[in-house]
Amino acid sequence: MKNAILKKEKLDDFIKIMSKDEKVIAPVLKGNQSYTFTEVKSADEISLKYLPTILPPKKYFMPQHETLIEYDKRNGQKVHCVVEVEDLVIFGVHTCDLAGIQCLNMIFADRPKDMNYLIRKNRITLIGLECNSYCDEFASCALMGNHIPKGGYDLLFTDLGNYFFVEINTRKGEELIEKTNLFENADSNHQEELNKLRKLKESIFKPEVDIDKNEIPSLFKKKFESKIWEDIGERCLSCGNCTNVCPTCYCFDVLDIPDLNLKTGKRVRVWDSCQNEPFAKISGGESFREKRGDRKRHRFNRKFRYPVERYGKFFCTGCGRCSRTCMAKIDLKETIRDLIKEGN
Ligand code: SF4
Ligand code: SF4
Repeated sequence: MKNAILKKEKLDDFIKIMSKDEKVIAPVLKGNQSYTFTEVKSADEISLKYLPTILPPKKYFMPQHETLIEYDKRNGQKVHCVVEVEDLVIFGVHTCDLAGIQCLNMIFADRPKDMNYLIRKNRITLIGLECNSYCDEFASCALMGNHIPKGGYDLLFTDLGNYFFVEINTRKGEELIEKTNLFENADSNHQEELNKLRKLKESIFKPEVDIDKNEIPSLFKKKFESKIWEDIGERCLSCGNCTNVCPTCYCFDVLDIPDLNLKTGKRVRVWDSCQNEPFAKISGGESFREKRGDRKRHRFNRKFRYPVERYGKFFCTGCGRCSRTCMAKIDLKETIRDLIKEGN
């Protein structure tokens, strides 16, 4: 598979051709400075330079609300499984969000496999968009190594002035390029321009917290009893915003919803949050994480320690959404710095 280029004036045709056959989703400005992944029909609706969207593209892989089963007892017990799925192309996904989808892929392919997720994932075409500079001060993508592309896409677009360098990563991506017939082969000059940009990025993106990445899991282990968790627990409002906007948070609840006739109904899956008090409540009313500080500590450990032990991977992409959205101004980088500063 050879790499390609797309001249910028052809982006609109690219979007329009794709949207004839399937829904095209891309980052779109919402309000003053917020962005959302939304369906588009043309390139002028898309924001190529955008801050991480309010919700990450996980909302298409794992919808906030999805039906798993429908039942009907009127003529004998009939139950059927439901997979809510449609063909989608998601264009313009930053490298941090691609990393988030890679985390979710790992979780839902683990045993027991989640077929609803896996079927949906196979119907989504992912087109990444490399960040050439920082989104804003909340990002910690360099610390997590996600400022550079690490796979997980069908095509990756890199803005190189009046054209995009396009890395073709899968057969699906290659077919899309052939179908649209708008791309040209990349030559050695284009490759040289890409190499220059990647070099420049080395001077722009530096680890945002002064710690060796390999030391992060042991920092969290050592700091399990730190007073810092109590302190941020006092400020936390338990609103769950930080987990809702996180591209790697995947906890859900399953609810049975009978219709009023009590004969038909459905089973649904909805997003849940470890920051909600009832999340860790068990029968008898006991709660494993009654205090807000305990829940905050759990969230951080689920990003920087437990997944490293189980999957050999951080489950923080460095997107900065949790800090950007927190009404109590609980900042992820600041928390890690405070834990380091506290010493042994
Ligand atoms: S967004 Fe902030 S206030 Fe809300 S649960 Fe998360 S840390 Fe607490
Ligand atoms: S923990 Fe925060 S910075 Fe890390 S991936 Fe989740 S929302 Fe992004």
